[in-house]
This record gives sequence, C-alpha cells and structure tokens, in this order.
Amino acid sequence: MSRPAINLNLLALLLALLASLLDWTAPGTVLSLTGSLPIVATALCQLAWHHRRPALARGTGLAVLMVLIPALASFLIPEYWISHSAWNRQVEGWTAGSLIVDWRPPLLVILCLIMLIASLLVRTRANLGAPQLLAMTAILLVMQGVETWHATNLLSLTGSALEQAALWSLLAAQLSGVAVNWRGHLPGLKRALPAGVLLACLTLLFWHQQKTLVEGNLHAETQAQSQRLAESLSLEIRDHLQAMQRFANSWQLQDTLPTGGQWAAQAAPYHQDFQYFLNIAFIDTDSRIRRVHPANATNQRLLGRRLFDEQPAGRSALEEALSNGEMGRTGIIDLLQGEPGIIHYLPVLDDDSQRPRGAVGMVVSLPALADTLFRQTNPSHFGLTLMTPDRTLAERQATSRLATWQHRSAIDLDGLSLTLTSRPTLSLLLSRLSRQPVVSLTIGLLLAYLLFMVLFAHQHMDTQQRLMRRSNRELRHEVRSRTRLQKEVEWLASHDDLTKLPNRRQFMWDLERHGQTRPLSLLICDIDHFKQVNDAFGHLQGDRYLKSIGELGRDIIESVDGVFARYGGEEFIACLPGHDAIMARDIAERLRVAIQQIDLRHADGSPLTISIGITTQVGGDLQTDTLLQAADEALYAAKAGGRNRVIIAPPP
Ligand code: GH3
Ligand code: MG
Ligand code: MG
Repeated sequence: MSRPAINLNLLALLLALLASLLDWTAPGTVLSLTGSLPIVATALCQLAWHHRRPALARGTGLAVLMVLIPALASFLIPEYWISHSAWNRQVEGWTAGSLIVDWRPPLLVILCLIMLIASLLVRTRANLGAPQLLAMTAILLVMQGVETWHATNLLSLTGSALEQAALWSLLAAQLSGVAVNWRGHLPGLKRALPAGVLLACLTLLFWHQQKTLVEGNLHAETQAQSQRLAESLSLEIRDHLQAMQRFANSWQLQDTLPTGGQWAAQAAPYHQDFQYFLNIAFIDTDSRIRRVHPANATNQRLLGRRLFDEQPAGRSALEEALSNGEMGRTGIIDLLQGEPGIIHYLPVLDDDSQRPRGAVGMVVSLPALADTLFRQTNPSHFGLTLMTPDRTLAERQATSRLATWQHRSAIDLDGLSLTLTSRPTLSLLLSRLSRQPVVSLTIGLLLAYLLFMVLFAHQHMDTQQRLMRRSNRELRHEVRSRTRLQKEVEWLASHDDLTKLPNRRQFMWDLERHGQTRPLSLLICDIDHFKQVNDAFGHLQGDRYLKSIGELGRDIIESVDGVFARYGGEEFIACLPGHDAIMARDIAERLRVAIQQIDLRHADGSPLTISIGITTQVGGDLQTDTLLQAADEALYAAKAGGRNRVIIAPPP
C-alpha cells in the first residue's frame, strides 16, 4: 500500500466531488453532473484497489464500466441503427427535457476512465498491457487539455478543468503505485511501449483531424441551409412585388373608384397567395383609405383615415406614388396595426392623362412574413431570428436545446437589408455528425493496445528462447564433459595408469573374449631383480623402466594380434590366441631378447632381463585358473633356472 498513491487518489476524489458540486450548482446544467460521477466512482475503485480490497475494486470497476460502455456506444452506433432521437427519447424518460449529452460524460473522459479501470482489472500487470493503457490515458488527457486550451471542440464538451485535474491525479496514483514493479520488464517495455504510444498518438491526431473536418462540413451544411432560407425569403419578396405591380396595373383602365365588391374580388386571390399582407388598400389622392381588403374589423376601422396625418413615417413613400406616379416603399415602420412592417405604394394612373388617380397600398407585416418563412424549417432543428441592425423583427424559438453555433445570412428586402440568424439545435447537429472519427479513434486505440501486447509478448518469448538456448548449451557442455569423465573413469578402471596397458581385470575380460580360439597361449613375464633397480636408482627410475618395457611388450605382442597387459607390480601378462606353444615361445624369446637389448641397465651395468613362463591350451573349454597356474609355475621354473629365460609349462 503506497502512501503517495493513496494521497493522489484522495486528491482525485476531492477534485471530482468538487466538479460534481459545481455542476450541481451551475444553472440549467443539473444533469451534466453525470460527467463527474463516473470519475468519483473510479476514484473509489482505485482507493479500494490501493487498500488491497481487490474484490471491491473489481466490483466497483465493473459497475462503472457497465455505465461507460453504453455511453461510448452512443457515440459509436450509426444513426440508422439507433437514431440520436431514440437515445434522447430514452433519457427523456428519466428526466423530462434532458438530452443524451446531459447524461453521458464527454468522449475523451469516457475513454480515459475505461483505460484506468481496465488497467486496474488487469492488476496493472505489464504483461497484460497496463503500461500501454496508462500511457494512452496520458495521451488522451494531453489531447483533452489541448482541445480545452484551443476551444476547438465545438460540439462535445471536453470536461471541466477540475475533472481533467481529477483524471490526472487518478493516473498519477496508478503510476506511483505500480511503475516500480515494471522495472523487471524493461526490455519488453522498451520494445513495445514506443510503438504502442506512437500508434496511439497517430490515431489521436488522425481523429482530431477527421473530427475537425466533419464538424467543419456540418457547419458548412447548416450554414448553406440557413442561406437557402434567406434566399427563399428574397425570392418571395420579389414575387410579391411583381404581383403587386400587376394588381396596380389592372386598375388603370377604370375611370371610377372601384366598388367595395370589385376591390374585394380583385384583391382576394393576391391576399390568398401572400397571407402576410395585412391589407391591400386603395388610397385616394388625398391619402385617404377608400377601399380595403380583407374587410375585417381592424381594417374597417381604417377606412376614411388620412394617411398623411395618421402615418407620417410613410408619407414620403405615399407621395412618391400619388404625386410622382412612381412606386414608393416605406422603410420598416410601425404599422397602424401595431406591428413592424413595410408598405408598398403603387400608383394607379389615369389611362388618358397618365396622372395618378390614387394608389394601391400593400401592407406587409414583417412578423407574418418571417413566420411564412420560418414554417419551412422544423422547429426542432433550428432557432431563427429575423432582424435589422437595431431591432429584432421576428423570432422563432427552437423546441430543442440550441448548440453554440450561429449562422447569419443577409436578406435584401427590396433594398432594405435584414439579417436572418439561424441557430441549429444540439440534437440536429449530433444526429448529423458522422460517427467515423470516433469509430476510428476507438479502433486505433484498440490496435495500439494489441500492438503493445504482441511486441511485449514477442520480446518475452525472445528472452525465454535466449535463456533456453543458453541452458541447452550449458546442458550439452555438461553432458560432453560427463561423458568424457565417464570414459576416463572407465579407462582408468580397465587400464594401468603408469604403463597405459590394460590392467589385470581388463586382461581377464580380453581372455574371455578370445576364449574360444585354439590353440591359446598365455605368457607371464617377471622382471629379474627389479628390486635392485629401485634400490639403486629410486622408484621413479624404476617406473620409467616399467614404462619402457610396457611399450616394447605391447609393440611385439600386438604385432601378432595378442593382448599385452600389466599383471601387477613388475609382472606382465600376454595372451596369444591362435598360437601354439612353439609359436608362443618364439614370440616370448623375441620379447626377452628385445628387452635385454634395449638400454635398460642395473647399477653394475648389466642389462635388465626378464623371465617368461608359457602355457598353451590346445582344446577344450577355457580354463583360466589352470592356465594361470601353469604359466606361473613355468615362470617360477624360469626364475629357478637362473632367470633371463623362457620356460614352457609341461602339458597338463
Ligand atoms: P626376482 O623377481 O628376479 O626374483 O627379483 P625381484 O627383485 O624382481 O623380486 P620381486 O619380483 O619379488 O620384487 C618385485 C619388486 O618390484 C618389488 C617392488 O619394489 C618392485 N615394484 C613392484 N611394483 C613396482 C612399481 O610399480 N614401481 C616400481 N618402481 N617398483 C615396483
Ligand atoms: Mg615379481
Ligand atoms: Mg621380479
């Protein structure tokens, strides 16, 4: 249990609780509390883990994951599988008026929390990818910081500074608790972590690029929609001006004042087409309203009123029609009906004199005009405002929460400049936002994790293989030296170390081997007066004499396919398979003479000699003891006979 880790966890818990509190008290954002609640839960999960309560930590972690994974899914699942409005309808059931964005934490916060919990669930083991998970959390947090700093995140929030600080503390707590344990995995980490981190960084950069592009496209799309709306308003105005012109011209041929019936009949279709006309009136040369359509109570009250007196703001436009015979238009004025609007005055000319006989006044209510326009868009998609530089003429509230985006389009209303401001709703933007960047981010991070795992496992296997190869080499070396040792032991057990000749045991074995060959002769040789050599020259010199005689004896006996061995002390023994007594005596003689002739001498200068006893078995089963006994007796006879001679034992 590491103290700094626990302190960092407590700090994270405190920061997350503070963030929750601020969320709670911020006006209108009660629900975005859910953004910091998972951070509080994760801090509790980590605290349990640091207090060595693995079961509690696992339980809390899994519970938080159960909340975070559907939240992540809401970012990932395509619109045509589960539409954004379906998500909204779901949360609407929990709290009226809330949207999915109120309930889910920001994307990067979700990913950070998933990775922190995942690293706890794999018990922060390096070989299960915990270093990669924590490194990716750090990268995501850096990206979150960059997004907050540059305010590039237009649609989804990045989480408050307090939430980000809490996440950094959670990360630091995990690192301070376990990073020390990864020292043993340094070679694996050195190979896998840079590659994993690089891929995660590239993924994040790619995501950021894609997201900016997608949001930019969406911005342009809603802007274009707003622009189209503004254009359709301009078109509408052009249409109604042309219609009015036709309407005014239609009275030119008539000399008298139109009757009320005539006026209503003529004006009705125009009013039908352009319902935002508050009225279509005939005004005489004295500016009095003489006819009006529609003939509702408000309009009836206007009959007979003198506009030069009643509506001075429109006087110059009316004079333009009545005095100059030209079309006149007021600016935006307060109409007699009490709302903002504009009036078009079109002269009705005398067909003969071309002098104005009066004017047609068409009163356009701007709120009604705007309403006609606004009806073309869905109120759950846009909030709309029509305004002049200094006043708002009409406003259509959206039925859903607005995003921070705002598009302004200029409208030319027969020379008057208006502005249409449209603000898309959050639901509209989120439903149209492509899921592709989030999908590639999630897949990229998953791949980065897998890449780490593969490289780490590869390095681990490499190390294992190296160790195995080394222990194999050591084992082979050990086996070789043991075999050599065994051979040495075996050789020593069957040979005499001084003369390198087979020893008595080996000789007996060889004798058994040749036991079937007949005739078979056996020689026992004993050096004459050897004690004197030792006494005169010392044992070392005696040993050298023994070696020389051994070499000579082996040369002679092995040249006739016999076996020559040291029998013990200064006695040698030879077996001659296939040699009868005579042949054996010749060979023994050769040996005796040869020894006498090499330069091995006694202290008095006399040559060293040997005595040899021979026995031969010509048939029957091998009788080793009898043969040895007979040869020994023959040797004894040779000694007794004066030494330096060969004696053949009498046949049994
Ligand atoms: P003889 O056989 O002719 O009767 O006389 P001898 O002097 O050779 O007598 P014997 O065979 O009884 O003595 C053998 C001597 O050989 C005794 C011992 O000192 C010597 N001897 C035996 N083994 C070795 C050995 O390995 N090295 C040396 N230097 N001397 C040995
Ligand atoms: Mg002897
Ligand atoms: Mg002797």
